[in-house]
Amino acid sequence: MNTDRRKVVLIGTGMVGMSFAYALVNQGGACNELVLIDVNKVRAQGEAMDLNHGLAFAKSNMKIYAGEYKDCRDADIVVIAAGVAQKEGETRLDLLQRNVEVFRSIVGPVVKSGFDGIFLVATNPVDIMTRVTYELSRFGASRVIGTGTSLDTARLRYLLGDYFTVDPKNIHAYVIGEHGDSEFVPLSQVMFATKPVTAILEDERNSYCIDDMKKIEDQVRTAAYKIIEAKRATYYGIGMAIARIVNAILGDENSVLTVSAKMCGEYGQRDVFIGVPCIIGRNGVKEIVELNLTQDEKAKFDNSASVLKEYFDGLTL
Ligand code: NAD
Repeated sequence: MNTDRRKVVLIGTGMVGMSFAYALVNQGGACNELVLIDVNKVRAQGEAMDLNHGLAFAKSNMKIYAGEYKDCRDADIVVIAAGVAQKEGETRLDLLQRNVEVFRSIVGPVVKSGFDGIFLVATNPVDIMTRVTYELSRFGASRVIGTGTSLDTARLRYLLGDYFTVDPKNIHAYVIGEHGDSEFVPLSQVMFATKPVTAILEDERNSYCIDDMKKIEDQVRTAAYKIIEAKRATYYGIGMAIARIVNAILGDENSVLTVSAKMCGEYGQRDVFIGVPCIIGRNGVKEIVELNLTQDEKAKFDNSASVLKEYFDGLTL
């Protein structure tokens, strides 16, 4: 990986892609070259102009331009946020198949450029599209990452912080599994500072209860639907989540983030890409953190993995 320059290529300059780019520019420091690619070249050019005009107000300088696939050659990270929207009457699987074709037109040229960095995928359904990227690129699994349940985990920590009236940074909790309907919160792993939340819920001296935990889990699972109902799409939160993962990679942070990673026997699963806590550093996924799930939680995880396997098996690659 390139150490002098930190170069990121963004493919797909729609709402999600540009929210990420905007967050990256505003946070400053991590990256000093950002290339924008989109099938709609004029859009990518317009976005590059717009961002460049804000650079005078940003924390640090960055070279931003609309580019070509050959620009991926010496990039550290290629972020994919390109995708097509669901057509009326189209099934989820039909949409997925069309997104496979979109990814075929992206991953091939990126690999052909000589790119030797890390793929970070945000396009939905993210766990499947990450696996598609892995299959098409034939990169090592540690270098193909999906945003997974990183945003869901941030939503969970925010809601738990609000519930317990504590800084979300002092809540340690993860949403794991598919980024979608079968995701869940392993309650046995939720910590308030270093205190297990299960112990707090059992303590009759307070009014905290398990039903409220279920409501919070439900709120996390349905958050995207609510936002889409209100404003048609979600993008700021995921944009910031992508920026967080990019910073963890470029800064070699070894931070624990719930990304979509390939299971190689962890959690009793193989091949499937699914959201789990992972240590993220300069070379991508350094380690998958295996949580001590209860039997019930393990069953939920297995169910989520089978949902993802079923979808993937229905695809033609
Ligand atoms: P959008 O329609 O605003 O942007 C998609 C962009 O992809 C467009 O600019 C389009 O021109 C481009 N594109 C399409 N085909 C392409 C191709 N072959 N090559 C290059 N670019 C191509 O959509 P959006 O709101 O930015 O959402 C993008 C994706 O992110 C969707 O799949 C969405 O579901 C997903 N998303 C993921 C999360 C998450 O948590 N992972 C959250 C929100 C949205």
